[in-house]
Amino acid sequence: MKLLVATSKTQGARENDFNHCIEGELIWIAPCCEDGEESPDSECGCGRSFAGLNSHHGTTTALVVELPGFTCSDYTEALRSSMAAQGWPPDAADEVAAGLLSFAFGWEVGTVLERRYDLFIERLVPASPG
Ligand SMILES: [Zn+2]
Repeated sequence: MKLLVATSKTQGARENDFNHCIEGELIWIAPCCEDGEESPDSECGCGRSFAGLNSHHGTTTALVVELPGFTCSDYTEALRSSMAAQGWPPDAADEVAAGLLSFAFGWEVGTVLERRYDLFIERLVPASPG
């Protein structure tokens, strides 16, 4: 199953990049505030970030990974508990999980993505450092 996780890859490609997530933790695409909707470069950063399910922090870079053995219901449960802990309606977890899974399905494993509010763009990953 393909999923999105937090990554530090390509951090710094944009001046306003940030990554407060745990490397490799599951993330979701949380709704934005008005500032974030207006500009992905807003100060709060919500329009350009993905949100960590464990850390509850944000990152501007997400990695598409394949997690063998991880199931749809594992994912939904992870989302449900994280969303509940953060004050989102946990009932929405099924829908959010389905949306994220079909989103991740469309990308190749290893792809690094950035978010521009409702637009998601692939970042070029340097082949090897140095
Ligand atoms: Zn915001």
